[in-house]
Amino acid sequence: MHSHPGPGWQGLNPVDADTEGNVLAYPVGATGLPLVGLTLGSDGYWSARFWERDGKEMRRRWCDKVRIIGPMSYKLYFNDNLRPAPQRRNILKRTIDSWGDKAQNDIARLKVGIVGLGSGGSIVAEAVARIGVEQVVLIDHDRVKQHNLDRLLNATVKDIGKPKVEVAAKAMRRNGTAGQIKVTALPMSIQDEVAYLAALDCDVLFGCVDRPVPLEILNYAAHSHLIPVFSGAVEVQTNPQSDSLFSAHWRAHTITPYHQCLRCNGQYNSSAVVKELDGSLDDMRYISNLPANERPRNENVFPFGLSVAAMIVNSMIRYLVGPDWWSLVRQQEHQLINGKTRVINEECRSNCEFRLRRAAGDAETPYFLSTSIPTTAPSVLGSIMALVKKGFRSCFPRVGKRHRGGT
Ligand SMILES: [Zn+2]
Ligand SMILES: [Zn+2]
Repeated sequence: MHSHPGPGWQGLNPVDADTEGNVLAYPVGATGLPLVGLTLGSDGYWSARFWERDGKEMRRRWCDKVRIIGPMSYKLYFNDNLRPAPQRRNILKRTIDSWGDKAQNDIARLKVGIVGLGSGGSIVAEAVARIGVEQVVLIDHDRVKQHNLDRLLNATVKDIGKPKVEVAAKAMRRNGTAGQIKVTALPMSIQDEVAYLAALDCDVLFGCVDRPVPLEILNYAAHSHLIPVFSGAVEVQTNPQSDSLFSAHWRAHTITPYHQCLRCNGQYNSSAVVKELDGSLDDMRYISNLPANERPRNENVFPFGLSVAAMIVNSMIRYLVGPDWWSLVRQQEHQLINGKTRVINEECRSNCEFRLRRAAGDAETPYFLSTSIPTTAPSVLGSIMALVKKGFRSCFPRVGKRHRGGT
C-alpha cells in the first residue's frame, strides 16, 4: 500500500511497477499467493491490482473496483477504464435528481446478486432493474407453481413450470432502465458451488430465502467474504379457530461484520442447518411432531411481500447512498398489528463463530457445498461458461479445499 498526491483511480509509475513487479516477486514466488497492490489518492480514492507469478514473470491484472465496508456506509471506488460510468439517461432523470450522479454511477456499476426469486425476491428484482443496475445474478432452483401466482411479480399462468430465475430475468431485461442490463440466471441452489462462486463475485447480495442452509451460506458471504447481504423475512400468524388473520410482521436485516449475523438475529440456528442437510426438515413425520410454533410456515400475501422487499432494497440504498451522519440501522421490524416500525440494533453474541470467520475468505468455505454441474438448458450452460471464461473461478483458487466449520 502506498499513497499518491493526486485524486481518483491511480496508475503505476516506473518505481511502483518495479517495486510490485520485481522486488515483491520473491514473496509471491515463495508463498504461491497473489499480491494485491493498493494506492490511495489524495481524495481518499483507492485503486488496486493483482500480481501473479506466470513462470518467471509477474503478471499484473488491474482490479475493476475496490470496496470498503464500514459500519455506516459502503464505499466503492471504480476503475473507470474497466468499469466506465454509464451515460446519463433521461429515463432515469427523476432517480438521478433524487440522489445525484455519483450515487447513480455507483448503483449502475454494482454487481447485484439476488438469492431466492419468490414473493420477496421477484419484487426486489423489479426494484433493482428500475434503479438502473447493469449486472445482475439470479439464483433459485425452484420453478413457478400455480400456488405462487398470487405473490410472484411478473409471473403468469403461462410461466407455470418455468424456472423462477428465468421469469425474473425476462422481466428485468424488459423493465430495466440501464443502457444495457446483463442478467445471469442460475436455476440452482446457492448450495451448488457454481452458484456460490457466482454469488461471491457480486458486490451486494439480497437474501430472499427462509431455509436454514441458504441463510447459513449468505452468512458466510457476509462475514468470510465481506459482501453486504440484505435479507428479509415475513411471518404471518393466523387464528385457526376463527379462520382469520391474527397478526403479521416483517423484518429487514443488513448483514456485515459491523451488523448482526443471521444466526444471532434468530433467522435460523445451526441444528436447523443439520436437519435440512439430512432431510428431516422435509420429513412430514418430523414436522408433525414439532410444536405448532416451530412448524415451517408458508403463509404470505403479496402486499406483505411488497413491504418486506421495499424494506430490504431501501436498506441497501441507505447503506450505499446515505451520508455517514445517518443512523446505524442493523434491523427493522414492522408490526401490522400496531403499525409500528422499530429499529433493532443488537450485535452478534460474543461466542458467535461468524466473528471468527470475518475476512477469512476461502479459508472458511461451507463444508456442505455440492458440485453438480447442471445439464438442463443450453442457455444456463452458456451463462456458466461465460462466468468461467471471465475468470471468476481463478480468483478463488482454493475454494475446492474443504474446511470444516469452526477454526
Ligand atoms: Zn506510486
Ligand atoms: Zn453472529
